[in-house]
Amino acid sequence: MNDRLGRALRNLRLSVTDRCNLRCEYCMPEDDYHWLPRADVLDFEEFSTLVDVFLSLGVDKVRLTGGEPLLRRDIATLVRMLGAKPALQDLALTTNGVLLADQIGALHAAGLRRITVSLDTLHRDRFTALTRIDALDAVREGLAAAHRVYGRFKIDTVVIRGVNDDELADLIETGRTLNAEVRFIEYMDVGGAARWSPHHVVSRHEILDALTKRYGPIEAIHEPESTAPADRFALADGTSFGIISSTTAPFCRSCDRSRLTADGMWYLCLYATQGIDLRGPLRRGASGGELAALIADGWRARDDRGAEVRLALGDRRAFVPVQDLLRRDPHLEMHTRGG
Ligand code: SAM
Repeated sequence: MNDRLGRALRNLRLSVTDRCNLRCEYCMPEDDYHWLPRADVLDFEEFSTLVDVFLSLGVDKVRLTGGEPLLRRDIATLVRMLGAKPALQDLALTTNGVLLADQIGALHAAGLRRITVSLDTLHRDRFTALTRIDALDAVREGLAAAHRVYGRFKIDTVVIRGVNDDELADLIETGRTLNAEVRFIEYMDVGGAARWSPHHVVSRHEILDALTKRYGPIEAIHEPESTAPADRFALADGTSFGIISSTTAPFCRSCDRSRLTADGMWYLCLYATQGIDLRGPLRRGASGGELAALIADGWRARDDRGAEVRLALGDRRAFVPVQDLLRRDPHLEMHTRGG
């Protein structure tokens, strides 16, 4: 099923909670938030029912995210429920790694196939300043556990000028040691990134320049069929890494991702300010067919190109309309709709 720009509905990101145990400067800088009412948060059966409908319409990849998905009690049970669905080709999870060492055995046993750990710095003082929690040691344990249990996994790093842009090679080296592919993410102006400014963005071009100076020529890995957000590159020795250039070179034209929040709002673009309520119809007893029609109508009408529209603005600052609305509508936060 395609949208108005010919993009297939394939990739669903499930934000299973809006809560997080870190307070990253670029994502969730405040102490307290307007949290989703608990009664609105979907239970695992409800997630599973909605995922079945999405699968019937062509989704074949699901990524669990948040907030911090490992804060959702007994998340391995949801993994087991989703992992048992034959139509699901790929089930992955993105975590900040703080609770990973304790939970990875249960997640793996439940059928989680891939894992991504977010890690922005290797320096304890920087980690604490950036996230406001002294948890780098716990994350390191999580990384070691991911290596042990999964062999290969991914590390996602948001690159911010003056914060961690001197650590690109060190992160690649850490990835090499752990058999993890590092993906550098350009700092985006969405959600809680209230202090975002173009100056803080380290572009794909600059990232490649810095790594070329350190490692010599870098080759692009061509994957014409891929709709993954990262473009992949290889160093001379074959070490691969990725760059997600959502800010300076957006990939809206191939974006097949949509996002379901923990309370069942479905967003068709990370920059969308309106979502489609699936919880209401689900709880009122809508049939699978009725839910499928709602989702299909939404996707067929989709013409979002949020990141490209932002880029075309030229003079750019934090996503101002969203910042104004953040307090009134928690759905507009990155930690609610999932990064
Ligand atoms: N808590 C989990 C984690 O840390 O991976 C999952 C949720 S988090 C919102 C998902 C990803 O979004 C993380 O890699 C985070 O670094 C990234 N992210 C959050 N705010 C961002 C921003 N303003 N620009 C780019 N990436 C951002």
